Amino acid sequence: MEEYDIIIIGAGPAGLTAAIYSGRQNFRTLVLEKMVTGGVGSEVPMMENYPGFQIIAGKELIELMKNQALKHSEIREKEEVKKIEKVGDKIKLSADGKEYLTKALIISTGSKHRRLEVPGELDFIGQGVCYCATCDGPLYQGKRVLVIGGGNSAAQEALYLDNIGVYVAMVHRRDELRAEQYLQDKLKEKDIPIFWDSVVEEIKGENRVKSVLLYNRKTEEKKEVEIDGVFISIGDIPSSQLAADMGAKLDKNGYIITNKAQRTNLPLVYAAGDVTGGVRQWVVACSEGAIAALSAYEDLI
Ligand code: NAP
Repeated sequence: MEEYDIIIIGAGPAGLTAAIYSGRQNFRTLVLEKMVTGGVGSEVPMMENYPGFQIIAGKELIELMKNQALKHSEIREKEEVKKIEKVGDKIKLSADGKEYLTKALIISTGSKHRRLEVPGELDFIGQGVCYCATCDGPLYQGKRVLVIGGGNSAAQEALYLDNIGVYVAMVHRRDELRAEQYLQDKLKEKDIPIFWDSVVEEIKGENRVKSVLLYNRKTEEKKEVEIDGVFISIGDIPSSQLAADMGAKLDKNGYIITNKAQRTNLPLVYAAGDVTGGVRQWVVACSEGAIAALSAYEDLI
């Protein structure tokens, strides 16, 4: 069984920052990622609020962080941790047939896209139902899509799609957006239409999405809008099951509870990034990753 000082689960902004800090403290550090490096952070089309860069895409910043983390740690992609258990004073991880022992564990498993849970959504995933504009947007150039949601992500996705030549409109369940003002200003500037007070009742099609049935909650009118794709951007849910299974305390929304030093209720187990909830920003995830690694350092020496 391979042994490490610190194992980090999840290679998003929090996990990669933790890896940089941990490796630079001369801890033998491994990052295990069930998919590929980046998490939902790499889906952000453009960021204007990550210090040091006027504007940068999530994917580009992840690549820079990954290369930096690789100087100080190992990263293993497509290796999903299935079980975590305490063995003496160490922690044992079982991941896709391999087993690892570690002295300390940082959980930065992030979050996954929340689903609308309307008829048709699951039937047409990959056939017109999408959750990531940077991933699937180029397939819709010259076509018509709806972006569902009124937060920062939805606004950014709509702007990105508009920018690459997709005909885009937004659907929001209220009469004002949650997105930051600068994004709202850009939506106005680009003249992106918004169906206000509207919810998706059904996504319809045959082999692919053909239309969406909208219900206006104020006027109580229903309207069928013909479209080629639906980008659902209504927030995320934490990927915290693994942590819960090993006894980490979660809050009522399923986020891992930590103190300011990113310590969980379990000894030598820390959590960082979106899986802990709070202000969900790249810079915050990075900060939490750094704090988690520094706390582990304090506890291990
Ligand atoms: P979010 O802020 O939670 O917004 C989710 C949006 O989806 C809200 O407008 C919400 O409507 C709507 N919604 C939720 N459930 C719905 C449902 N079942 N049906 C229809 N609409 C639904 O999520 P997010 O935009 O993904 O952002 C997540 C976090 O990341 C936030 O903290 C955000 O600030 C941050 N973020 C920041 C940036 C940036 O810095 N520029 C970029 C992306 C994300 P209501 O408004 O009515 O609740």
